Amino acid sequence: MKTIGLIGGMSWESSLEYYRILNEETKNRLGETHSAKCLMYSFDFHEIEVLQRRGDWDKLTTLMVESALNLKHGGAECLVICTNTMHKMASVIKTSTGLPVIHIADETGKVISNQGLKKIALLGTKFTMEGDFYIEKLKAYGIEVMIPDEPNKQIIHDIIYNELILGIIKNESKQRYIEIIHQLKNEGAEGIILGCTEIPLLIKESDVKIPIFDTTFIHAKGALDYAID
Ligand code: GLU
Repeated sequence: MKTIGLIGGMSWESSLEYYRILNEETKNRLGETHSAKCLMYSFDFHEIEVLQRRGDWDKLTTLMVESALNLKHGGAECLVICTNTMHKMASVIKTSTGLPVIHIADETGKVISNQGLKKIALLGTKFTMEGDFYIEKLKAYGIEVMIPDEPNKQIIHDIIYNELILGIIKNESKQRYIEIIHQLKNEGAEGIILGCTEIPLLIKESDVKIPIFDTTFIHAKGALDYAID
């Protein structure tokens, strides 16, 4: 088994999920007392969030590359960026470390195309929904990506930063997400990407009448496909 380097803390609420899924899935696959070989660098998310709000992506890239190099020096043989948003600098991290980066949008694109779905709505931070770095990857799998309209995009984004990242789960926010998901379904979406690693803490498959793609789960499983020979 290869050692997985996790760039985490964005937020720690979802990094905890990665750690749990990696270990549970390793046990499912290998049995006995097996668990995942991994290292985690966990950021103070406040520092990251302030830089995101300022739009200082150069500084963020420097911090992400430094953390990736720390993981490499600690023995990581591949990297998992435990957030959709920070895949914005995935290619720089890959070239700077020379390590394989298990890309969350690639893993999600593979799962969606295996199910033969074509038109999918993406929910995530505004950085993920509005940037090219994520949507272009999905398009390479033949997926047509829909995003919510402007007011709903803001609602999705604000609930992530003001609640989910702080571990706050509110029923009214869950209802707003469900309404937005069903609106996207009525507009033609065949499935919904939970493209922020905290959204699966709020929305479960059983809450909605449309297939959902939990990027935290898909990403962690994709990392194990690589790490377990
Ligand atoms: N975990 C979130 C994501 O998957 C948002 C936190 C961040 O900005 O990194 O995009």
